[in-house]
Amino acid sequence: MQINNYTASYANKLDVQDPLQSFREEFYIQQDTIYLDGNSLGLLSRRAEQALLDVLNDWKKYGIDGWTSGETPWFYMAQQLGAMTAPLIGAKKEEVLVTGSTTTNIHQLVSTFYQPTAGKYKILADDATFPSDIYALKSQLKLQGQDPADALVKVQSREGMLVEEQIIASMTEDVALIFLPSVLYRSGQLIDMEKVTAEAHKRNIVIGFDLCHSIGSVPHQLDDWDVDFAVWCTYKHLNGGPGAVGGLYVNRRQFGREPGLAGWFSSRKDVQFDMSHDLTPDIDAGAYEIGTPHVLSMAPLIGSLAMFNEAGIDKVRQKSLMLTDYLIELVNHELRDYQFQIASPLTHEKRGGHLLLEHPYAASICKALKAEGIIPDFRAPDFIRIGPVALYNSFHDIWKTVQALKKIMNEETYKQYKNERGVIA
Ligand SMILES: *Cc1c(COP(=O)(O)O)cnc(C)c1O
Repeated sequence: MQINNYTASYANKLDVQDPLQSFREEFYIQQDTIYLDGNSLGLLSRRAEQALLDVLNDWKKYGIDGWTSGETPWFYMAQQLGAMTAPLIGAKKEEVLVTGSTTTNIHQLVSTFYQPTAGKYKILADDATFPSDIYALKSQLKLQGQDPADALVKVQSREGMLVEEQIIASMTEDVALIFLPSVLYRSGQLIDMEKVTAEAHKRNIVIGFDLCHSIGSVPHQLDDWDVDFAVWCTYKHLNGGPGAVGGLYVNRRQFGREPGLAGWFSSRKDVQFDMSHDLTPDIDAGAYEIGTPHVLSMAPLIGSLAMFNEAGIDKVRQKSLMLTDYLIELVNHELRDYQFQIASPLTHEKRGGHLLLEHPYAASICKALKAEGIIPDFRAPDFIRIGPVALYNSFHDIWKTVQALKKIMNEETYKQYKNERGVIA
């Protein structure tokens, strides 16, 4: 029998050739399940687990002295993890810090960078971004006495996509700050950050990005692109665990700005314990840390970031694109009779790590997939989001998923499930 691209043996062949295949064995993958939701919550690896256990052990052993003793002294952990994150985003280690959450880091950096004047006071964002980002921008505007109805400008997306030319056309004289996602959480579109940043700077506008859906899946060159600041979470592609501590980047050209939200951890480390009531801010990204770090929610990252540095983000990206290419090819061929639309960009330059499938019965189909042990996620009103992860998903996972979809459609088993979303979708 001829081996074509649509057979299980072809998928197995791709797995055998995969240079990252050994990482899969390091993850806890439940038997008979295919996990495709790594862009919402990445899976636990043995290395992340061990790193957490090691920190717990340091607590056992050292008590208070764990701040300065042990393998990973807690006092410097935010910086140490920042240094481990730097290669993923093309930054210098002193520009990166693991702290806060995406939302609190937006508050921190927007309150630091947004300095409105009478003629230049607007914030430019987009209508396809994650709600928390918009809530944070609106409250920052209000704190500065601005009316979001006037001062928040949202670039309109079309069918879930943003057009860079339209973003650039919206960079009017009165815009002070731009804040955009790197990869849109629904469509998976990857924004041309380099181009948009260059255009913003031509107009004297500060620009920051939310990297939640690209970090750990797409390489970045934030220094080369001259981005001013960025924030991200670490529980999606970075597999840091539920509620894992987020991260921030501040371009070293911007060092020295007083933190909008100061706390004693914004201090220069060598004088922090002088306990002065006058803050001496740290000289680098450390100035944007606020309070005592959430050590237990950072610890897994010691293990999981080590895996990324070992694998190399370019290899991760290469496999990620191969996985989504393969998924596109199978959907187009195997599911051609069943009304699925691919709602993500098809070209590599514009595609992040996940793929959005549109179908009128998406909610029912997601439930039917879960009954088969396949975990996608649903995005209202009618999208199935599939986030295959280079470090632990296989080509065979993709093949089996499409076969399961074909069976669900062919046998119409999805009709047993209500076409509506649960509380967490
Ligand atoms: C996941 C995500 C968030 C979540 O923010 P938290 O502060 O971690 O709850 C915010 N923005 C975007 C774009 C996201 O993808």
